[in-house]
This record gives sequence, C-alpha cells and structure tokens, in this order.
Amino acid sequence: MPVDRHPMPEQPAGVRNKNFDEVALGYDLETAFAEAGRCLQCQNALCQTGCPVNIDIPRFIKNLREKDMASSIAVLKSKNSLPAVCGRVCPQESQCEEKCVLGRRGQPIAIGRLERFVADYAREQQLGLAPAAAAEEKNRGKVAIVGSGPAGLTVAGDLSRMGYGVTIFEALHEPGGVLMYGIPQFRLPKEIVQYEISQLKLLGVKIEVNMVIGRSYTIGELLEEEGFDAVFIGTGAGLPHFMNIPGENLNGVYSANEFLTRANLMRSYKFPFVATPLVVGKKAAVIGAGNVAVDAARTAKRLGADAVSIVYRRSEKEMPARNEEIEHAKEEGIVFHLLTYPVKIIGNDKGWATAMECVRMELGEPDASGRRSPKEIKNSNFLLDADTVIVAIGQGPNPLIPTTTKGMDANKRGNIIADENGRTTRDGVFAGGDIVTGAATVISAMGAGKAAAKSIHEYIMSKRANPDK
Ligand SMILES: Cc1cc2nc3c(=O)[nH]c(=O)nc-3n(C[C@H](O)[C@H](O)[C@H](O)COP(=O)(O)OP(=O)(O)OC[C@H]3O[C@@H](n4cnc5c(N)ncnc54)[C@H](O)[C@@H]3O)c2cc1C
Ligand code: SF4
Repeated sequence: MPVDRHPMPEQPAGVRNKNFDEVALGYDLETAFAEAGRCLQCQNALCQTGCPVNIDIPRFIKNLREKDMASSIAVLKSKNSLPAVCGRVCPQESQCEEKCVLGRRGQPIAIGRLERFVADYAREQQLGLAPAAAAEEKNRGKVAIVGSGPAGLTVAGDLSRMGYGVTIFEALHEPGGVLMYGIPQFRLPKEIVQYEISQLKLLGVKIEVNMVIGRSYTIGELLEEEGFDAVFIGTGAGLPHFMNIPGENLNGVYSANEFLTRANLMRSYKFPFVATPLVVGKKAAVIGAGNVAVDAARTAKRLGADAVSIVYRRSEKEMPARNEEIEHAKEEGIVFHLLTYPVKIIGNDKGWATAMECVRMELGEPDASGRRSPKEIKNSNFLLDADTVIVAIGQGPNPLIPTTTKGMDANKRGNIIADENGRTTRDGVFAGGDIVTGAATVISAMGAGKAAAKSIHEYIMSKRANPDK
C-alpha cells in the first residue's frame, strides 16, 4: 500500500496563471481507485467526525473501490447536495482529512479529491439524477427561500424532496450565490454549479432572479400576502468592509466583492466578447489573506497584472486562506508582503491610485480570535507601488432584510439571530448560512440549510395539525 496520497494533476503554474481554466484537473479512474485503496475502512472512522454534514466517508470510499459508483454517489448525496462543489472548495485539511488516522504517520486519504471524482463521474455518466417532479406532488405547503447560495440551495433541495412547493428569490441575475459570483472559474467551474442548479429545477424548485427581497417583496408580504407557509433567509455576507484609510475612493481601488463579481458573474475576462470590462493595472496589491483575497490576487494575475502582491498584517501562520490556495498562489507568482499594514493609498493628479503607504508590523499577544495580534513598528513606513488596490478584509451582512422585517432580531453586527435549527425570533421565518454566522464556509452554510429544512418541515406539519396555535 503506498504511504503517500496520490498527487492531483494540475495545469503548470506558468500556463494556468494566464487562463481561467480549472487549475486542478481531477483524478482519473485508475488513480481514484488506487487512492481509495489506501483507506483502512476504520471501524471508528474519525474522518467522519471531522465532516460538518457527517458524510459516511468510509462507505462512499468502499463503494468507490468496489466500482459501485451509483452507490458511492448516493452515499454522498444523502448528506451533501453539492458534492462536486465541496470536493473542490471545502477546507478538508482542517476537517475530515485532519482527522484521518493515516495522517498521524503519513498522509491522510485525499477525501476531497475522491469526493470530487465520484461527483464528476456521476455527472458525466448521468448517475443519481434528480427525478422530474410532478406539480401535484408538491402539495405539502409553500416555502419561499431568499438567496440562492449553498444555504438556500440546500434548503430548496431538501424541502422539494419532502414534497413542498419551493420558490427561490435571488437578487442577482444568476443563481448560485458566492459559488457563482465569488469563487473564480479556475477553482470552481461555473458549469458545475449550473448543473447542480439544473438538478434542483428538475425536482420542481422555481427560481426567480432579479428579485431583491426587502424591496420587491418584504418577508412579511411573502408570508401574509403571497401565501407562503414559511420563509428561509440565506442572503449571505455580501457587504464589503473597507479599511477607512485615506485614498480608498481613488480610481483603481476595488472591494474584492466588486472585483470578483465583475470577473466571475459578468465574465469580464472574456471582454470584448462580453460587455463588462475590468481595468487592472500592471501592479496590483490585495489587502487581506483569506480565500477572498487569494482569489482576487490570482484573478488579477490572470487579467494581466505583471506584479501582484498580497499585503497582510500578520504572518503566514495566521493566514485564513486554504493552504492549497496559498501554495497555488505562490507558484503562480503572487508575492506575499507579510506583517505589513497599509495606512494610505496615494494617487496621481488624475485621481488614479499609484502606490500604498504601508507600515511594518510585529506580533504581540493572542487576541480574542486566538491569533497573535499585530502591532505597528514605529517609523517603519514605506511605499509599495500599486495602480490597482483590492480590499479583501472581510464582508458583513446586508442590512436590507433585517431592517425591513418586523419582529426578527439581528445582533450588533447585523447578523440575523437564529437557533441551531434555523428558527429566528419571528414565527415562520428561518435563517442560516453566512447571514447568521458571518462569513464562513460552503459546507457550514449547507449544514445550516439542512437543519433549517428539517425545522421548516416540522413547523409546517405542526401548524397543519394545530391550525389555531
Ligand atoms: C471569493 C470567495 C471565496 C470563497 N472561498 C471559499 C472556499 O474555498 N471554501 C469555502 O468553504 N468557502 C469559501 N467561501 C465562503 C463561502 O462561499 C460562503 O461561506 C458561502 O457561500 C455562504 O453561503 P450562503 O448561502 O450563506 O450565502 P451566499 O453564497 O453569499 O449566497 C447568498 C445569496 O443571497 C442573495 N441575496 C442577498 N440579499 C438578497 C436579497 N435581499 N434578496 C434576494 N437575494 C439576496 C445574494 O445575491 C446571494 O446570491 C468563499 C467566499 C468568497 C466570497
Ligand atoms: S479515517 Fe482515513 S483511513 Fe480511516 S476510514 Fe476515514 S479516510 Fe479511511
């Protein structure tokens, strides 16, 4: 049995940093079987305890190595409605793979790569397809879902399978949430997200795009006038935070959210074949070091910037982005300015950014997040040339729905308050994903969606049984 996991074939760094094709090419059949063969099929499978949606990991791997692909995808789909997405973007190194016993003395099973392989194989071979829904079967009740990210899509799939009529209202012109507008094509091809959404439509889920809830309808109107029995809010954390430093309003300064939306959703990388250009200079600097920052930096490189740097106030150890993405970024030529903090963006007389004034930092005691907090080193100011600056220091919830929904409480940061079953303080209104937790992960949004779907079902059943309650 090989000790090491099988490497993932990839486009060479010097080629891929000029195109938007997927970086990781995926295992072939033979490699997937060989990697599955390394699994010890532990009785007490620790890997499973690391999975936020509790996938029966040994079982899907066993089915795979027995070449029973239909059963393998069925095991995955019973807990995770988006396995081709999660196999690509979940932080497995800090979840299931971190717990795998093989990691104690060598390398853990490549669980994420196997999940991706099974999901891609099933899609290509048309295994485990959603059955087309008959309209009359959707008679258990009507549920409105606001937002079509992983949380909303999960609720929609689960409730539709239980027999509810589900309508998703999405503010943007394409459904998918961050999976469509945030995570770039080279990490998560959009065809995969669209395929998953087409499966939901087959189940009978209706999707209405360009519908900004809070404006087109309020949550109250959906419940009281539009005849929905319950509403789920999964509107994510799409409101960008800024540094509030001088020069942030110069031309050439973007929020990562706007930058990535233009690149992904508007396909600006195909300009002039699409109508939306995205101006990227020769020297781009991205502020922040999470997945969003690394995605923005790698996108800027692909859009033609010669030099792209990431500016981060802590050290590499504290960087929140996935390890694999950080390694990929380095290979692609992204330079990391660590322990560096921008204090000002400098512009020319035409109002365009030309440089950032930064200071050097050192690490002090751990803060509330457990990470060592950065402190400025006095008189360490220096200039970093940058004609494009992308701010990627975090996102918060959009206040529109919390402020237009009576009786539904939000916390100080503006996140909707919901219990572990997704119940908010307003009867019939449920919420989950980033709008509740703040910016988190795809799988945690899906986990919240699963819990909320169950809870919505129980709520509607109990209302039907006790109509006067
Ligand atoms: C660039 C980027 C990279 C990321 N990389 C990773 C990664 O590698 N791995 C990982 O696990 N996580 C990653 N994440 C985080 C992950 O994508 C999110 O945690 C997840 O998408 C949250 O899901 P959600 O369903 O709560 O919200 P979202 O995906 O944000 O979807 C919310 C949807 O609601 C819609 N909406 C908002 N307001 C309204 C309204 N008023 N009316 C109607 N619709 C509305 C929005 O348009 C959006 O489509 C990344 C995030 C970003 C931004
Ligand atoms: S812990 Fe590792 S070896 Fe054991 S069942 Fe899970 S993936 Fe296989």
